[in-house]
Amino acid sequence: MKTRISIFILFFLLCKHCYSWGFYGHGKINYYAVFLLPPEMMLLYKPNISFLEEHATDPDKRRYAVPEEGPRHFIDMDRYGKYPFDGLPRKWKDAVEKFSEDSLKAHGIVPWHIQVMMNRLTFAFAKKDFTAIMKNSAEIGHYIGDAHVPLHTSSNHNGQLTNQRGIHGFWESRVPELLAEKQFDFLIGKADYISNPSDFIWNRIMESAKASDSVLLFEKELNNQFREDRKYAFEERNGKIIKQYSSAYTIAYNNKLDDMVERRMRQSIYAVASFWYTAWINAGQPDLKELAHQRFSEDELNSIDSLNKQWKMGSRMLGREE
Ligand SMILES: [Zn+2]
Repeated sequence: MKTRISIFILFFLLCKHCYSWGFYGHGKINYYAVFLLPPEMMLLYKPNISFLEEHATDPDKRRYAVPEEGPRHFIDMDRYGKYPFDGLPRKWKDAVEKFSEDSLKAHGIVPWHIQVMMNRLTFAFAKKDFTAIMKNSAEIGHYIGDAHVPLHTSSNHNGQLTNQRGIHGFWESRVPELLAEKQFDFLIGKADYISNPSDFIWNRIMESAKASDSVLLFEKELNNQFREDRKYAFEERNGKIIKQYSSAYTIAYNNKLDDMVERRMRQSIYAVASFWYTAWINAGQPDLKELAHQRFSEDELNSIDSLNKQWKMGSRMLGREE
């Protein structure tokens, strides 16, 4: 019985930690985005590709320590009526006027926060600030990735309202972790200049919101076709036995979704590279050659390390609470 309880706790924790594309997916999105850049940017981004991959998940780690962080990762569009949600002004100022800042934050602010990050990245390029370019590039990649995940635009974000708890991590972690290396195609082409970042990101949010019903419905249908013992499997991960969605169930879900996860991951990669590229252009295409061999200072590395420590401590505390 004891083992059973700890297996369930692990399963639940795994889903929590895999919030938003999972650590695996976010890292891969930033990683592959580098290959879409023009040579003038590649010379800075390629030597720092591991940083961009590793720090794609910093915003999720910060959620334990910084209360304002949470709302930046999602937007519950269904709180604003029905698709295409015309009642919600797309401009932050107009939306605040209509709904108040507190209420917007309660339902998530990802499309607006991406624009804040875009300004920060553009400024970092203009100042040729190596650390700020790298950190803001890694982090805007995270938020753009989140905006592409259908369940990040629904208040039923983990299927908690429809008895489908766990579906969040299923769609964005389990599917890519099982299938990305084997069958996803990450050859995407090149980054483009985005003349209107606000429209661009709102379009992606609308697509996510439109897809969220199928994400939930298809899993519900599949659940009715699979017996419990075929739906889940026990697998070893880092020396621990965890309960997770079985490979057969995961593959069946991916087929039913007609490769939606791969499509959204590819679109995320394209969007991340295009936002990086656009920020660089808008900053006046600064020459990045002299930054290419720069490294992080001791202080910067310490502050990165302390975020990791806080995150580990926070997640351990969360484990105890649960
Ligand atoms: Zn996130």
